Amino acid sequence: MTQFLDTDIKFLKGVGEARSKVLMTELEICTFGDLLFTFPFRHVDRSRFYKISDLQGEMPVVQILGRFISFQTEGEGVRTRLKGLFSDGRRLMEIVWFSKINYFKDAYRPGVDYVVFGKPTSYRGEWQMSHPEISVYDPMKPPSGFNGIYSLPDKMRKKGYGPRFLSDLVRNVINHPRFGEIQETLPREIVSAYRLMPLKEALVNMHFPKNPESLQKARERMKFEELFYLELHILRYSRERGRKIRGFVFPRIGTYFNGFYKECIPFELTGAQKRVLKEIREDMRSGRQMNRLLQGDVGSGKTMVAFMTMLMAADNGFQSALMAPTEILASQHYDTIGKWAAQIGLKTALLTGSTRAKERREIHEGLVSGEIDIIVGTHALIEETVQFSNLGLAVIDEQHRFGVAQRARMWKKSEVAPHVLVMTATPIPRTLAMTVYGDLDVSVIDELPPGRKPVQTYLKFDSNRTEVYRLIYNELRAGRQAYIVYPLVHENPKLELKSIEAGLERVRSIFKDFEVCCVHGQMKPAAKDAQMERFVSGEAKILVATTVIEVGVNVPNASVMLIENAERFGLSQLHQLRGRVGRGADHSYCVLMSHVKISGDTRKRLGIMTDTSDGFLISEADMKMRGPGDMEGTQQSGIAFNLKVANLATDGQIVSLARNVADKVLDAHPELMETAQAEAVEKSPDSMRLDRDSMEILRRELKVRFAKNYDWSRIS
Ligand code: ADP
Ligand code: MG
Repeated sequence: MTQFLDTDIKFLKGVGEARSKVLMTELEICTFGDLLFTFPFRHVDRSRFYKISDLQGEMPVVQILGRFISFQTEGEGVRTRLKGLFSDGRRLMEIVWFSKINYFKDAYRPGVDYVVFGKPTSYRGEWQMSHPEISVYDPMKPPSGFNGIYSLPDKMRKKGYGPRFLSDLVRNVINHPRFGEIQETLPREIVSAYRLMPLKEALVNMHFPKNPESLQKARERMKFEELFYLELHILRYSRERGRKIRGFVFPRIGTYFNGFYKECIPFELTGAQKRVLKEIREDMRSGRQMNRLLQGDVGSGKTMVAFMTMLMAADNGFQSALMAPTEILASQHYDTIGKWAAQIGLKTALLTGSTRAKERREIHEGLVSGEIDIIVGTHALIEETVQFSNLGLAVIDEQHRFGVAQRARMWKKSEVAPHVLVMTATPIPRTLAMTVYGDLDVSVIDELPPGRKPVQTYLKFDSNRTEVYRLIYNELRAGRQAYIVYPLVHENPKLELKSIEAGLERVRSIFKDFEVCCVHGQMKPAAKDAQMERFVSGEAKILVATTVIEVGVNVPNASVMLIENAERFGLSQLHQLRGRVGRGADHSYCVLMSHVKISGDTRKRLGIMTDTSDGFLISEADMKMRGPGDMEGTQQSGIAFNLKVANLATDGQIVSLARNVADKVLDAHPELMETAQAEAVEKSPDSMRLDRDSMEILRRELKVRFAKNYDWSRIS
């Protein structure tokens, strides 16, 4: 007999052959289980009127009965908003509108009872609703309950499927005589120890909650389950690594490090740089392979930390490699590091895709003989033919540009795994880092070198163009340089976006007196470098570019950045771009040009950029708005979490709990470990023993959920 949840959807009351095809093609619902796990994307509570004082935490969409007290407009131009003060008789909340302000201003009368229906959010301790549905209160209309709203594809709606179609079908599954057969998917020890809602009850409440509290409990249970298995899966590997992988021991701090530090270093290290170097030093002495993520905002001075780590390797007779994602970046690193290294007699070389054959051969030889101490390069470094005499340290800049597999190849270039330092300016929020990287060590440079001034950032529209060009002009006249960034290289009639193709001419004609150069991803590396060189040397005053300049490019004299169609870029990307200015000049500016017609969300997103320069805040906000699946660094390294209900950005507490429980289970059951030599792990006093049935559940769930056993915990 098939499992109840695996029953073909066509056998469900109300479905049949024809509808089952629609469900399959439009919603990928093939079985009873698929349907049951298609949860409403939100709930509306029309069962009662809420009081403002009842509101708390994350609320579903609710209705509140009350009256408008007054209206007031705030802000100017496109930032204008209308605020209505709304009273439920005891407390006040704000109703906010961002558009059609003139209409809403006069739409509601004082003294009339209205029902406002929307999602309450709290802002600085006060409750708000923006653009709620509002109707005149009708005492004769009965309340209609607490309902789930399912998303239906347009195609289905056009075919006449109504909003209740899915919920009716779900009800049929729940009322099916075999519903009771559904088996628990979490060990009972865990369900009872953490007072989680049992699976069947949770499933019912995900669709038809009795009240907001039971919905909350149901969601918690479903989230916990997803996260628990994810953590268990990750920990099965990462614990292994911690115990197994031995690394080179670098006991000495010698003449290279000390000599450079005492004689040559061009500036005083910041406190954060010193702290991070100490952390690295500890790793290098420990006998374990260092596997460290170095997070530091753009301009925080990661390069110097990397270089001084290389000196630790050199002091112990080892070579170092630094791999960067683009040729431009690699050659900049080579310039910087090469200069520093030369002062203390270390030999550096640059290896990229455009290195000539003869030189390439010499470099290969120099690496094998040990003559080259530090090699800087691009992907070219991971080619088979590149061999080392004794590679002790691999530094990888801007990790999200490299895939997991590529990094692994770097790692295999040495009998013993070299120490690995991965540098990124994309701060990964803790809950995510913890989940993605297992027991990876993280160091943070949370302090900028002294004297930096935050970049003044503005949001502007086409109507402000003259004023924006004047700002750029004034900077150029003062001897500064400017970046102008476009989302596209070529015009695309389908997209209403600005392109370099059209923009370059315009920039040239407006800024006639100044040299303009241009780089984009479709140019040959050599041409790109030549153009870049003109900007770096100061010959060209304006660099027109796509986001190829996003990472790492360092021209301290540049003081303005203009980003066209800023609404099209992610926050982290904008932050990276902005990081190109403010590296030397007294004042620097970033102008986000945007289409006037942007949604409230987009406006809020760009508002974050104008409000803060804290990369960490920006990345958290970015992740909350877009979901971690879109985060740079997760998607590109191929990490598919496949989370349906949990959200790594906002469910931090459940993530921690899930991880904690997974830890306890592994303490008691080392046999779950992937390459289980089932070594006895020290039993922690509160490890969690499971009985045989529960272990069966664990094994089954891990198998179903993680058919492909990639080891995501390893970054290198
Ligand atoms: P990122 O972390 O973005 O890679 P860089 O390493 O390129 O930043 O450093 C940015 C700039 O700051 C460089 O010009 C570098 O020389 C300078 N810098 C780094 N550390 C310090 C410091 N402690 N004091 C002053 N300037 C510093
Ligand atoms: Mg850098």
